[in-house]
Amino acid sequence: MTTTAPDVTNARAGSSGTPAPTAARPVRPATLTDDFLRGLVARVPGGLGHTWPLTEVYTGETLVELPQSSPADIERAFATARAAQAEWAQWPLRKRLKVFRKAHSLIVDNQPVIADLIQAESGKNRRMAVEESCDPPMIISHYLRRAPKLLAPVTRGGPIPVLSTSTEIRQPKGVVGIIAPWNFPFATGLSDAIPALMAGNAVVVKPDNKTALSPLYGISLLEQAGLPKGLFQVVCGEGPDVGPTLIDNANYVMFTGSTATGRVIGERAGRNLIGCCLELGGKNPLVVLPDADLDEVVQGALFGVFGNTGQICMHIERIYVPETRYDEFKAKFVRAAEALRLGASYDFGPELGSLVAVDHMRRVQSHVEDAVAKGATVLTGGRPRPDIGPAFFEPTVLEGVTPDMLAGSCETFGPVVALHRYRTVDEAVALANDTDYGLNASVWGTDLDEAVKVAKRIHSGNVNVNDSLATAYASKGTPSGGVKQSGVGARHGDQGLLKYTDVQNLAVLKKQVMGARPGQDYDEYVKQMQTSLKLMRRLRVR
Ligand code: NAD
Repeated sequence: MTTTAPDVTNARAGSSGTPAPTAARPVRPATLTDDFLRGLVARVPGGLGHTWPLTEVYTGETLVELPQSSPADIERAFATARAAQAEWAQWPLRKRLKVFRKAHSLIVDNQPVIADLIQAESGKNRRMAVEESCDPPMIISHYLRRAPKLLAPVTRGGPIPVLSTSTEIRQPKGVVGIIAPWNFPFATGLSDAIPALMAGNAVVVKPDNKTALSPLYGISLLEQAGLPKGLFQVVCGEGPDVGPTLIDNANYVMFTGSTATGRVIGERAGRNLIGCCLELGGKNPLVVLPDADLDEVVQGALFGVFGNTGQICMHIERIYVPETRYDEFKAKFVRAAEALRLGASYDFGPELGSLVAVDHMRRVQSHVEDAVAKGATVLTGGRPRPDIGPAFFEPTVLEGVTPDMLAGSCETFGPVVALHRYRTVDEAVALANDTDYGLNASVWGTDLDEAVKVAKRIHSGNVNVNDSLATAYASKGTPSGGVKQSGVGARHGDQGLLKYTDVQNLAVLKKQVMGARPGQDYDEYVKQMQTSLKLMRRLRVR
């Protein structure tokens, strides 16, 4: 593996703000040849007639022209997927799961190529790209173990003991539409599809235009592992162009993205009376309890705030510190943020990569500028870094942020955090909960029982104690989703697979014995019913 380009620390050279030295141009990995990239996008139908220039984020150079799918393409993709699904659903589960056992090895073995693609299209640093590539294998391992139990029919006694049974059968929904964002393109493109496929569904995925390459490569690996051709389709285009046709043809929609788009998707799915799972944005708080070990918090918060350059849905945007420890925390955290190495390179040197695109970087910058204009202070960072790459932005720590500021109430989704003081733990909990979002929260303290008590009071789908986000997200056995405006439904856990199934209640009555018969005395009939009810309760008939 590849390249070196000198990275630069976040610290500005001297108080005068002399620009840091211009970083050398990153050397693109040898794996990313034109032929390889053109081969990846060749499977995307391009009936719209124009293409999207998919760029290398570090340089802004076009990597490949991505075909854009027309409504007719999308309908054809669904028809092909539906035909393949009819056969796939007939495969014994054991045979379906064998494909994923092989896919696990292929993904792990090809991790370097996957990381190259993720970095090139998203601009993240190497560590995050490698960690992202681990998500689908973790999902595969979990559901390889769990799917046989979840998908096995469950037979229960029916209302008339011995004479009746009811069997819960899990039927695949059909074709699942997946709409994925750019921040974890390989993970969101594949990991949500894997349980859907295991359950017997086909999938049509729409990745973000900016980041279609790594999911396309992942799908090619699944096919190498034996996934039938046609079962996993990819369509590309701008969300509002692709979304309506995709939703109108799907039997279920799995969406990950912003709250604003989630509302549009949810409305359309509702009108079509199909289920959907919406994994949306956050404004995630971190509460430092009075007994917390500040050095540990600083290290954990550094990843929670700046990991993936702040573009993790569960990342931390607000930190609440007891006022007695505020100055000490602030000094340590700002120092640590300034020491972070930024860089555009495909090796493990930089601790922080780029934002995904220049327009997103401008959005992050506008949140900082709005905060400053309304009275907030920049403790460190706050500037774009075109000297490193077109969409780089410094790790930024603010104080004095208030709810009327964009950075105070809206998701910034960049390397920007606001520090706040609190007087009592009750006040910290109230401040943490003072948001429309409820995706993730983090609580740090030495007394674990106390920290867990505080964690339970935070209205959030995920709460990490003594970690920022990874422990909750990597716990694949537990459902993970947002509450309030952060989402509907969850991924992971049993429901992460069962949501892609319909329940068929197959009831069998061996002989008709109940019910009023013609000419029957109705008093006697009512008595019979009452006796049956009492008996059922005593026998605990479900
Ligand atoms: P976005 O909502 O703009 O786009 C997400 C996807 O939806 C993209 O593929 C986009 O093309 C598509 N899209 C946009 N408009 C559409 C429409 N009208 N119909 C159908 N599809 C449409 O979000 P984004 O800016 O790409 O991603 C960042 C957001 O995603 C952040 O808010 C982040 O918190 C959230 N996110 C949430 C999770 C989670 O698990 N909760 C995970 C990752 C990202």
